[in-house]
Amino acid sequence: MDCSPIERLLDPYLDDELDPARAASVRTHLEGCCACRRVLDAMSSLRTTIRTEAPYHRAPPELAMRMRETLGRESQEAVRTPAPRTHPPRWNRWFQLGAAVLAAVVVSTTATWLLTAPDPEWAIAEQVINGHARSALTGRPMEVASSDRHAVKPWLSARLDFSPPVVDLTTAGFPLRGGRLDYAAGRPVAVLVYAHRQHVIDLYVWPGAQSRSGLDRPRTFTRNGFNVVHWTDADMTYWAISDLNSADLEAFANNYKTAK
Ligand SMILES: [Zn+2]
Repeated sequence: MDCSPIERLLDPYLDDELDPARAASVRTHLEGCCACRRVLDAMSSLRTTIRTEAPYHRAPPELAMRMRETLGRESQEAVRTPAPRTHPPRWNRWFQLGAAVLAAVVVSTTATWLLTAPDPEWAIAEQVINGHARSALTGRPMEVASSDRHAVKPWLSARLDFSPPVVDLTTAGFPLRGGRLDYAAGRPVAVLVYAHRQHVIDLYVWPGAQSRSGLDRPRTFTRNGFNVVHWTDADMTYWAISDLNSADLEAFANNYKTAK
């Protein structure tokens, strides 16, 4: 049984993002394949851990206070504004009160959203960590195993609608091991597999700058025993993930950026 096409769909399956036909084919496969069921269980519990442990960015207290003050002042002003005598007073007054209440609801809903919305980059980080963990669990980190970038790049380009930059980092201590396809950020993506001593480094690559900040400077996260370095350039979005320590993973990212 070939599990790799199904494995790629497990993430969107878990997110309820597949069309009914594809979801049904995943369900049928899962009924007959306990290896994929195990992967799905692991992904689902990893996801729960990330959901409960991922940092939420809270607005600084001064901002929250300023919003509350503005909100309070605006509704008071709206209520205090005298209704013109020449117009039907009751209707006008009720209208203004209604508008103030509506504004209060809108502002407080926005404030709640600002205070609790998770960083959108976290959704991507979660998918990348899932993909890395999934390939480690199934023991299939590569679909094309080669240290030759002239073999890895065409293999990936033939299966994707873009051509990921594959560089040789052997002299820097990060030999290329191969590549595979995965599914992240709602699209098929390239995963370049590098090594450093006994550690595997997955470099997720896809076109377009997904970063909210749009910064070229790499950002480093540590979650669930994995280190993640994320950066973008003019053409591509990059996520490097490994159980390698963060300093070595950042060195990998810098070497890749220089060699590209
Ligand atoms: Zn399977």
